[in-house]
Amino acid sequence: MSILRIAIQKSGRLSEKSLGLISEAGISFNNSDRKLITQATNFPIELLFLRDDDIPQYVADGVADIGIVGENVIFEKKSPIRVVEKLGWAKCRLSIAIPKSENYTGPSYLNGKKIATSYPNILQKFLDENKINCEIHEISGSVEIAPGIGLADGIFDIVSSGSTLISNGLREVEVVVKSEAVIIGDPNLSAEKQEILDKLLFRTRSVQQGKRHKYVVLNAPKENVDKIVNVIPGMKSPTVVTLAQEGWVSVHSVLEESRFWDIIDQLKECGAEGILVMPIEKMIE
Ligand code: ATP
Ligand code: ZN
Repeated sequence: MSILRIAIQKSGRLSEKSLGLISEAGISFNNSDRKLITQATNFPIELLFLRDDDIPQYVADGVADIGIVGENVIFEKKSPIRVVEKLGWAKCRLSIAIPKSENYTGPSYLNGKKIATSYPNILQKFLDENKINCEIHEISGSVEIAPGIGLADGIFDIVSSGSTLISNGLREVEVVVKSEAVIIGDPNLSAEKQEILDKLLFRTRSVQQGKRHKYVVLNAPKENVDKIVNVIPGMKSPTVVTLAQEGWVSVHSVLEESRFWDIIDQLKECGAEGILVMPIEKMIE
């Protein structure tokens, strides 16, 4: 029987969420200590723990079938792999930053400058597209200190809140690419492995879908039911149950988290009372 091998980051920003994705799919492992490879006890997958930078190549070579990485890593490596699913976390951007005292006039400012980065390929592409001639100084870590110690005029690096830039006296001047965590896959998975992957994705999507929604129960006067049903969007038909109290009903429905408060306000205006809101663990449409 086939086993789907999943490469995840051994230790770093992606590790915990990657393991979380597997465990919310109801998959468990015998030993929690991270050996190089661990096999699941109740699902045909095994985990391979690697440095994130190595994951695209392992997937491209077929040593791992799928992997979880930041898009930034695949943009930089240009490996022939496919993105199977965007995951919506580990969001960041790759930006150019320069000392905050400098007057930035646009990309041409960078002509003749020296930029330190761990992402030379992505930066080079941006420079080529903008016809900028500038020297790239490749370093592997602590890029943000390069201008302060005179190693470079600017940097090209990962930014999320921007606080690291500020504490190093830098200012973000160009956002070059945006990135989030993704599942990448070998483009030539066997039918059996594809089937395991589909099952895994079905489970994780159900959990994610559940997290994006709330289950809502409310009481309302019977004559307002039509108004309330109109306010609750996208539902084929909410459940309406008669209450013991004459003239009152209970309405059960599912609301999208992102529009939740707007809709609750409208429901109150329609005379809704005793509104209960509950989390949804899994949602299968
Ligand atoms: P490794 O030892 O595995 O090579 P690393 O130091 O290269 O680890 P991490 O710092 O753990 O990598 O970051 C992993 C990924 O998380 C990055 O490639 C990027 O996609 C994302 N990431 C990095 N920094 C941030 C941040 N500040 N906010 C959000 N996401 C980030
Ligand atoms: Zn790395």
